[in-house]
Amino acid sequence: MARVVQKFGGTSLADIEHIRRAAQRAVAEVKAGNEVAVVVSAMAGTTDQLVAWVDEIAGRDDSAEYDSVVSTGEQISAGLFALAVESLGVPARSWMGWQVPVATEGGHGRARIQKINAADVVGDMEKGTIPVLAGFQGIGPDRRVTTFGRGGSDTSAVALASALKADRCDIFTDVEGVFTADPRIVATARKLDRITYEEMLELASQGAKVLQTRSVALAMKHRVRLQVLSSFLDTPGTLVVGEEEIVEQEIVSGIAYSRDEAKITLLKVPDRPGVAAGIFGPLADADINVDMIVQNVSEDGSATDLTFTVTRNDFGRAQEVIEANKKSLNYQSLILDSQVAKVSVIGVGMRSHAGVAQRMFQTLSEKGINIQVISTSEIKVSVLIAEEYTELALRALHTAYGLDAA
Ligand code: ADP
Ligand code: ASP
Ligand code: MG
Repeated sequence: MARVVQKFGGTSLADIEHIRRAAQRAVAEVKAGNEVAVVVSAMAGTTDQLVAWVDEIAGRDDSAEYDSVVSTGEQISAGLFALAVESLGVPARSWMGWQVPVATEGGHGRARIQKINAADVVGDMEKGTIPVLAGFQGIGPDRRVTTFGRGGSDTSAVALASALKADRCDIFTDVEGVFTADPRIVATARKLDRITYEEMLELASQGAKVLQTRSVALAMKHRVRLQVLSSFLDTPGTLVVGEEEIVEQEIVSGIAYSRDEAKITLLKVPDRPGVAAGIFGPLADADINVDMIVQNVSEDGSATDLTFTVTRNDFGRAQEVIEANKKSLNYQSLILDSQVAKVSVIGVGMRSHAGVAQRMFQTLSEKGINIQVISTSEIKVSVLIAEEYTELALRALHTAYGLDAA
């Protein structure tokens, strides 16, 4: 007997018919003699609608109320899912985050799971009842509902799998697995049979929203056996595994992109010690994450230009912070640009192979695409380009690295 966590995303629960089909998958596992716990996301489009209503009234100023509104989509789908399972003759019950409880820390809107008390969920499974957990939500130290950031029900599923010491965590979604690039943009993308935790972590954090980044980090830490697979087809998905489980490692495993980027350039800041600290200190104090940074050498040793990127969400605030410090930073002027995208090439094989970055630069130059900022890690090269070239860059790179499906 295996213990399995099944997570269903929004498109897999888009309407009652979809919920019924998803419920059949859970029931099939039970009939096969396994123990199953289910985690559900909100029905497709629901969370977007809830977020839009909050924004229309008040923006994000009261993040506790934001959480109490946007978490509700999962309550609906958990209840409906439990009803669908029961209509198939198997007992089920829904669990809200606070009922389990899924204890969180770190405030509202982007809370982190601290602990899941899984005893009652285990009790359900042991007596043959399928527990259906509302994903994306928990309870904070203030005893109010919290949420985990968009896509957060993936993290609920992995955290539950870890708490239950599950043999498998299956993430059912609207694609057949993890592809070499977003299959909605790169038609020639290939499904990967396996990918390492590390590569999946980079892919997710560089924009491939097939899994929430935090869910991958958690799976890697607790060695949860994660599988991404289609809820519509009966085909094997992609296993996310440790490096030792991959026999022949590709140099490049995948390409990701993110349009959630904005660029700020400070022209003619004094070229002296302490300037970078003066810029990034106030940004950090304002809780703004800076991603890519490039600083030019100065022509005459006195002044230089400095460029950095933030998420589009933080763009306005970052501008305010920099402008509020104009006097002490002593720059001449700002250039602001939110029409940029980041494209990243990822693969653990980069550690042992030279020339990966060069192929990227060469390919983009052949397409006439200007690179604005570059950043690298051990297994990743990212470039910032004009947003209008995103698709062109992705497809050209996909071909250049030999990733196209045969
Ligand atoms: P769910 O509602 O099931 O959580 P998401 O929309 O969050 O689904 O994630 C699935 C989507 O992720 C796919 O529809 C696909 O467009 C997108 N995606 C982006 N990059 C990739 C990739 N490398 N492989 C697979 N899917 C990807
Ligand atoms: N429903 C939430 C969202 O749309 C959580 C999730 O789908 O994972 O972000
Ligand atoms: Mg998702």
